[in-house]
Amino acid sequence: MTHTTHEAHNDCIFCKIIAGQVPALKVYEDDSVLAFLDIKPNHPGHTLVIPKDHIENIYGMPDETLCRITMVVRKVALAVKNGVDADGLNIIMNNESAAGQEVFHAHIHIIPRYNEDGFKHWPHQTYVQGQAEEVLEKIRTEIQTQ
Ligand code: AMP
Ligand code: ZN
Repeated sequence: MTHTTHEAHNDCIFCKIIAGQVPALKVYEDDSVLAFLDIKPNHPGHTLVIPKDHIENIYGMPDETLCRITMVVRKVALAVKNGVDADGLNIIMNNESAAGQEVFHAHIHIIPRYNEDGFKHWPHQTYVQGQAEEVLEKIRTEIQTQ
């Protein structure tokens, strides 16, 4: 438990969980990170790892916050895998509604997976001639401007 206060964002369900105003089944907690069971799991043990600071998504996340949540993800991942005897895990972060984000307080999903569980991979495409190089150039240009 911690006595650090984090500024709650208006109407954010995860800020309310952090503030203790909404109940959650807590897997792990420290000064800056909370992990708790997803209320509608893909499989039992599906866990969310969140920063205690209200940050919407990964884009503007401070380095230290990112490092801390990533270290907790690694710790909790192995505990979830062993705890529910999963064969593997998906570790997923949805950023923005186009990518399926519904709660706009950054969170990383740890989802237990089982051999032959029928959960399908996302559909794949193939590049047409020259397309991969074109998109690569655009992304690399963006990186240079950061
Ligand atoms: P996303 O679609 O990536 O924004 O995922 C949001 C996740 O938060 C969903 O999987 C929800 O089931 C989960 N969720 C929403 N409200 C709660 C809550 N009160 N306690 C636990 N998990 C929640
Ligand atoms: Zn929040």
